[in-house]
Amino acid sequence: MPGRSIRNINQLRVLEALRASPGLSRTELVRDTGLGKATVSELVREFIGKGLVREDAAAPEESSVGRRRIKLELSGSNWLAVGVELTGAHCISVVCDLHGRPLRSLITPLRGTTVEGAQRTLVEAVGEVLADFGPAHVVGVGVGVPGVVDSTRRRVVLAENLGWRYVPLADNVEPSLPSAVFLINRNRAGALAEYWYGANKGNRSLVYVSLGLGVGCGIMIGGLLYEGASGAAGEIGHIVVDPGGRRCKCGHKGCLETVAGGPAVARRAREALRARGGRSVIAELVSKRLSQITPGLVYEAAMSGDELANDVLAESAKYLGTAFAAVANLLNPAVIVIDAGFGEISQGFIDHVYEGMSSNAFPASQSTTTICGSTLGHQAGAIGAAIVAIDEFVLQGKLESALSS
Ligand SMILES: [Zn+2]
Repeated sequence: MPGRSIRNINQLRVLEALRASPGLSRTELVRDTGLGKATVSELVREFIGKGLVREDAAAPEESSVGRRRIKLELSGSNWLAVGVELTGAHCISVVCDLHGRPLRSLITPLRGTTVEGAQRTLVEAVGEVLADFGPAHVVGVGVGVPGVVDSTRRRVVLAENLGWRYVPLADNVEPSLPSAVFLINRNRAGALAEYWYGANKGNRSLVYVSLGLGVGCGIMIGGLLYEGASGAAGEIGHIVVDPGGRRCKCGHKGCLETVAGGPAVARRAREALRARGGRSVIAELVSKRLSQITPGLVYEAAMSGDELANDVLAESAKYLGTAFAAVANLLNPAVIVIDAGFGEISQGFIDHVYEGMSSNAFPASQSTTTICGSTLGHQAGAIGAAIVAIDEFVLQGKLESALSS
């Protein structure tokens, strides 16, 4: 990568340490980054000079040796990043500060999934979400895509939900946007966002799992995304949890997606309704037109105490737990975050996931893994994409250029 110098990496270390723990002193920054005292002092001085970091003079504390302990925080209302997530149906956009904290967000329906239509929606959404921010410095536009991304060639390799293959998305939209464009898989973006600002509580390992049309996953280890040898890590949806079960689109039988993805939940609700003679509030919600059942409706029915809906979701949750057992055995993550596209997941659902996991995992691997729901919800992918834009701005030497101009 051009411009990825030691100095740029050091700059990102300082910014990341302040992102993780706002209010660190210079001494604590030396401890947390592993950088030398002189390097930290110099970088902090530069950042303060350009309004990127501010000293908190309001509440100085006395340290044990009687010197003022000055807290440092990322500042930068003049520095913004934009994050966008393309789903199969929507364009979700956020404006973030350099922390990656969302300042404004917007959901725009996609007018179809043609490349041209989606690109037009994306460009318009970025313009609209930035409209009230005046002449701020936009460090980049991160775009989370539901598919395989080649970030080096700046293109979407395959996005099945959108029907896209080999789309040079970054090059196509960048001329119409205020800053450089960076692409990332939306599940990896979700993992980044939950790691830095969401369900994570200072742990160093996290697995993010999203339940949508399929079951996707992003893996953070030691503060870094794990992408695998060929970028294909995280295909949790194709872990076999029901050997001999239904055929998956990948060709194998009984993958997690066939029992726990959104379409699978809707299908299993329809099957259960037929088997039980329609005794469920779900049948009333869709006026007995079973083809209109969505995973969101099944969840809504379960929340109202519907037995059939609860049974369908409990079974999905146990299958998820079976897959999580494999994840826990292999990675032993501190946290597994579930982002259920159909709504905020209940403790009851999580309990069933634990049940499925504990029946299949090595006890020492799973006993330290916490399962929880997403705290960022539908914004996770867009916030994570904004974080990618911030990090690449620093790593590619563009912060360096901005500081010296
Ligand atoms: Zn599969």
